[in-house]
Amino acid sequence: MHARVDERRIRPLNDKTLAKGPVIYWMSRDQRIKDNWALLHAQDLALELKTPLVTVFCLTPRYLQASIRNYSFMLEGLKEIETAMKKLNIIFHLLTGKPEENILRFCKDYKAGALVTDFSPLRINRRWKNNVVKTLPTSFFEVDAHNIIPCWSATSKQEYAAYTFRPKVKKLLPDFLSDFPEIIKHPHSMKNIPEVNWTKVVESLGFDFTTGGNRFFIPGEKAAYAAMQSFIEERLADYEADRNDPNKKGQSGLSPYLHFGQLSAQRLAYLTRQAEAPGIHTESYLEELIVRRELSDNFCFYNDNYDKVESFPRWARETLAEHLDDPREYIYSKDEFESAETHDHLWNAAQKEMVVTGKMHGYMRMYWAKKILEWSETPTDAINTAIYLNDKYSLDGRDPNGYAGITWSIGGVHDRAWFERPVFGKIRFMSYNGSKSKFNVNQYIDTVEALTD
Ligand SMILES: Cc1cc2nc3c(=O)[nH]c(=O)nc-3n(C[C@H](O)[C@H](O)[C@H](O)COP(=O)(O)OP(=O)(O)OC[C@H]3O[C@@H](n4cnc5c(N)ncnc54)[C@H](O)[C@@H]3O)c2cc1C
Repeated sequence: MHARVDERRIRPLNDKTLAKGPVIYWMSRDQRIKDNWALLHAQDLALELKTPLVTVFCLTPRYLQASIRNYSFMLEGLKEIETAMKKLNIIFHLLTGKPEENILRFCKDYKAGALVTDFSPLRINRRWKNNVVKTLPTSFFEVDAHNIIPCWSATSKQEYAAYTFRPKVKKLLPDFLSDFPEIIKHPHSMKNIPEVNWTKVVESLGFDFTTGGNRFFIPGEKAAYAAMQSFIEERLADYEADRNDPNKKGQSGLSPYLHFGQLSAQRLAYLTRQAEAPGIHTESYLEELIVRRELSDNFCFYNDNYDKVESFPRWARETLAEHLDDPREYIYSKDEFESAETHDHLWNAAQKEMVVTGKMHGYMRMYWAKKILEWSETPTDAINTAIYLNDKYSLDGRDPNGYAGITWSIGGVHDRAWFERPVFGKIRFMSYNGSKSKFNVNQYIDTVEALTD
């Protein structure tokens, strides 16, 4: 069988040659079987070597601010993968602990022929890979299975804004926005890898899984696919009209699935293009899904400070510094924000929506982050609070989109200078009255209150 993956999606991380042994796919960001370029490449190599294919996921007991909600969503998805892989004769194994040590040991113990992993621009994932590559005796490949246009192919630098990135995306999209080949039943077997003991795994995390979970999103690849189909068939045709009204179910609600890789953005974009919805709605949706989402990966890939004030453009840092001593009408601590104890019922409702459901409406996310800037002592406090809360409570948190969204709101990343005003300087401002003129604020507050009862 010839290689099924465009070589531009693949980056060799070392110059070792392939050896005769099982090919290991170190699954990390792209937790699905279908439409996964990294798994496809791993299978291509295993077919070439005529060896077994093994998928390994390494569970770290702590990952950024991830909570029980995030872990249980992810583990349910992984269990589904294990079952589906059995039917494809692909072994699924789960390791716990530090990925650097465990992946290395696993590759050595089972005499891996090659190691393949998926791509993430986040520092923690890059550090793991850098540590593995130092002593890995076999060849190691990274495959961008998350972006439609591989992050390193789209452009070789940090893009200033959507308007500089969009033309590059438009040029390359015809090359990359294709359908996917299928993973085939793997012809080479392996018997000596023990089955996953899920109970032991859960115990090792030390969380009390009975106290918190999520009742708003069904986890897993199958549920993700069904949610995508339902959005495309039932709501895509109103997307542009409804997406900014927190009282309407106008957004797709797919970001948790995209974040955990339970759904492929490329599949979603491919089917959106084929849908019969009017052009204005599909174009608007594809702008968010492709240009904005892949711009976030670009930001984190090329800017190591993506979660810090240092990532803000110079004009934004200067203007915020000039307004550092401006009096703030309200200042709240991280705990007050976390328990939704501000004077603003709209802000409190947004915070509660995130805490209760695991997802805040996209329009409210902007308002929520901008008010954190307005009511914090410094922009540094603001960014730290926003990231802490978003990463802890949002199912789709700990994601480049989150870091780009927060630095856009608080630090003008991918935005431009606006009219100068207290505290914000030239950072774009959002007000309660502005929200009131856009949607029924009280209806939103009441709906969230009803969820918390
Ligand atoms: C302060 C703040 C924090 C944010 N935190 C996150 C986060 O943690 N995780 C996350 O995935 N998104 C985040 N976003 C971006 C955006 O709000 C969410 O992607 C969107 O609300 C997710 O819901 P949806 O899938 O229903 O969106 P839809 O409106 O249906 O959009 C479809 C997809 O397009 C992408 N997208 C939409 N808006 C943006 C955007 N502004 N930037 C980048 N990609 C976008 C997402 O992948 C999204 O799933 C944040 C935005 C802000 C302002």
